[in-house]
Amino acid sequence: MPELFIGGAWRSALDERTREIRCPADGSLVGVVDEAGGKDTVEAIAAARRAFDEGPWPGTPASERGDLLLRVADLMVRDKDELARAESLDTGKRLVESAYDIDDIVNCFRYFGRLVAGETGRVIDTGSPSVDSRVVYEPVGVCALITPWNYPLLQTAWKVAPALAAGNTFVLKPSELTPHTAIHLMRLLDEAGLPAGVANLVLGAGPEAGAPLGDHPDVDLLSFTGGLLTGRRLMAAAAGTVKKVALELGGKNPNIVFADADFDTAVDMTLTAVFLHSGQVCSAGARLLVEDSLHDRFVDEVVRRAQLIRLGGPFDEQAQTGPLISEAHRAKVEAYVAQGLAEGAVLRCGGARPEGLDDGFYYPPTVLDECDARMTVVQEESFGPVLTVERFTDEAEAVRLANDTVYGLAGGVFTTDEAKARRVAAGLRIGTVWINDYHPYVPQAEWGGYKQSGFGRELGPAGLAEYREAKHIWRNTDPSPQGWFS
Ligand code: NAD
Repeated sequence: MPELFIGGAWRSALDERTREIRCPADGSLVGVVDEAGGKDTVEAIAAARRAFDEGPWPGTPASERGDLLLRVADLMVRDKDELARAESLDTGKRLVESAYDIDDIVNCFRYFGRLVAGETGRVIDTGSPSVDSRVVYEPVGVCALITPWNYPLLQTAWKVAPALAAGNTFVLKPSELTPHTAIHLMRLLDEAGLPAGVANLVLGAGPEAGAPLGDHPDVDLLSFTGGLLTGRRLMAAAAGTVKKVALELGGKNPNIVFADADFDTAVDMTLTAVFLHSGQVCSAGARLLVEDSLHDRFVDEVVRRAQLIRLGGPFDEQAQTGPLISEAHRAKVEAYVAQGLAEGAVLRCGGARPEGLDDGFYYPPTVLDECDARMTVVQEESFGPVLTVERFTDEAEAVRLANDTVYGLAGGVFTTDEAKARRVAAGLRIGTVWINDYHPYVPQAEWGGYKQSGFGRELGPAGLAEYREAKHIWRNTDPSPQGWFS
């Protein structure tokens, strides 16, 4: 069955190209999917445009749009095992993590389904009895949604659910490496009764299938999650048509551990922060900032525990984390580690491909100690299981080092001093702060970056607002002339 979904129909790529998808854990063939080129994407944009300009969806009552999202959530619950398996085969991540992601995705659809159903706009009190003033929320139009490979369906849900809730139509382009759950999502949207042309899917490489989504005049909004360099390129491409842009880019997230932290919790969460999904998490706590007086004991224990982490494929129940997404990505991570060592970092563990796992793109948990803020491996996102360690001596230095990158996505603070935790949280220029914890999130709370981690927010009420225009309607109910010149 063809895999591009355009105007409510499944079809192959116009030039009949396909791409093999292989599991990063063992190289096995997962599937062969259609590979769109720019012409397919332009057709998908036209279908979304027609569905927006002529179709029933933008004018469908919000409560009905919300109902549809709730039906999609139910269908995902029904198909949870299949979705989780598909996600694990494409990404190589453990099945248990994929299943966890599907639960979050269901919650995301339910959240936006319920949120939009209760929305009515605002009545403004102008002080005049002869004026009826209201602000109503309307969909932006055709949305281009571009997503990465690390949490393929989760990142897609964060865009698709609010875009649909607000009444938009869209063209989705998932990462070319991980297309299968996006294909499944299109089937579920269709089954739930979404009108033809509202949801469109193109698969393929960024520069070909994705490029028209940046500069096409019929796209009203571009929401992109991915790397910093791609984000900069797309922002420039979008400038020509002044479309709305939201960017969720990378992070080089600080994890600050004070000497008064609960030791075991801080060690445990430091490992979770950076090694979950082998570090392929935008919010990964890849920069450990540890108070000087705690440094030796803390880093020894982190290193001891890091070496115990078991690597393995998606269906290996003993495995605690999986492979990297591709050979090219592993080579990039290795290059960052090599550069870190060349710049003076001290390798405490990891740093070499593990034995016995040659079929997959595995790389072990790696700790680089005695780092300083100017090192490339400290400044740039390796997006792998690589922890850099810096020391600080007081609160002010911790905050200064934490903020000392171009990124500003997320980070953690470990201390038993509540007032200190609050002060540090206030000083951090990042979109999410975890105190004595790392990584949890809820769909009710906004997610997004400061600085070059991007702009715009996903999730929460602001995540819905991204996909809406606010329109003020002023109605004069007094028939007598009142103009400046009457
Ligand atoms: P990437 O930038 O290489 O690709 C992201 C998407 O953009 C893919 O679908 C890709 O095909 C597409 N793309 C690439 N070039 C394009 C072009 N010229 N025009 C249109 N589309 C193009 O990123 P990636 O390697 O897939 O993902 C990893 C990055 O994503 C990391 O930097 C990570 O931090 C970031 N990320 C951020 C968040 C967040 O919430 N801030 C979440 C997940 C991942």
